[in-house]
Amino acid sequence: MQKQKVQIDWDQFVNTEEIVTFIQSLIQTPSENPTGDTREIAEVVQRKCLEIGLETRIVSKDGIRANVVATLEGNKPGPTLLFNGHIDTVPAGDLSDWDYDPFGGVIEEGRLYGRGAADMLGGTGTMIMAAQLIKKAGIDIAGKVIFTAVADEETGGALGTGYLLEQGLTADAAICTEPSELDIHLAHKGAYWFRITTKGVTSHGSVPEQGVNAVEKMAKIIANMNRLQLSHTPHKLLTGPTIAPGTLIEGGTKTNVVPSHCSATFDIRTVPGMKHEQVRREIQEFLDNLSIEDPDIQAEFEDLFWMNAAEIDESEKIVQVTKSAVERITGRQPQISANPGTADARLIAAYGIPIIPFFGPGTIDQAHKRNEYVEVNQLIDATKIYADIIFNYLGSNSG
Ligand SMILES: [Zn+2]
Repeated sequence: MQKQKVQIDWDQFVNTEEIVTFIQSLIQTPSENPTGDTREIAEVVQRKCLEIGLETRIVSKDGIRANVVATLEGNKPGPTLLFNGHIDTVPAGDLSDWDYDPFGGVIEEGRLYGRGAADMLGGTGTMIMAAQLIKKAGIDIAGKVIFTAVADEETGGALGTGYLLEQGLTADAAICTEPSELDIHLAHKGAYWFRITTKGVTSHGSVPEQGVNAVEKMAKIIANMNRLQLSHTPHKLLTGPTIAPGTLIEGGTKTNVVPSHCSATFDIRTVPGMKHEQVRREIQEFLDNLSIEDPDIQAEFEDLFWMNAAEIDESEKIVQVTKSAVERITGRQPQISANPGTADARLIAAYGIPIIPFFGPGTIDQAHKRNEYVEVNQLIDATKIYADIIFNYLGSNSG
């Protein structure tokens, strides 16, 4: 039988005020994307990492979207665990919509308010603070932990997580500290954005029968979209693929001219296992069938953006370690679920790294909204849980 590991009482090392002050300082530092300039907030993160004693560097492809890479290195060899969180946030929007200063970091009734509180300066800040707990507790880990506080997540991630992976970032397991209320989201959906363009023949508005109305043809495509049944394997935690047609439409030139051109964008959300080429083929078949029924439908489609779905198997060690850490720290069993959105986890998963796509403080329901907040209690729990995960994932040889 394996020797039972002695667990750590993290409370003796937790400095609530320091954790909260750090998250507040992140909220108070510009992070909105656009512009996407994360130089200043990366410096705030870097300063804290250096103070904790992590080997820290700032990496940027364009000199503007700055990413922090901090490493906690053990004295013994072992696996690499990666924590990933983004430091860019969506714009606060109309400030008069907010009851709290979005860049104030105000605390009221146990809630810390501000842009990015939930999505996801809380998650990014607490993963860094977990490193401090490991240091304070004097734990010698076997292997290393890499913390990446990245830019560009809200605009696709190519200059953030994507760039770091291109530069050689790798790990044996990873956690994205996106908000999940400290439940475990094992999967997130993917997305496929594309544009369909229809071509018609222009004519005078008084003799529409002499033309082919491209907008009318587009309307027909959209109205028949329910016939596009995308093949997929049903997922146990996610609903099937969805299609939002005509999210942006333009066509026509003048009120009294039959339009010869119309374009519309479409937003498909995919489940794990769906492949870009397969989805493309099915859309093409759907359009081909429509133009057999109505030869005046002349439609072309083009890719805008494909984002993979991401998924981790529940039996992975990192999931099991996370589960028991939540139970130990909070006394409750984390819910196992999945997220309909997309996140940087897909980029990490594409490199074959097992990653929990969403495990962090705050709720995704708060993301991108006015009066965004995170519960202070969850920030403290998250810090302890991340430390506990590090201890139990990398400290296993010392038990
Ligand atoms: Zn996020």
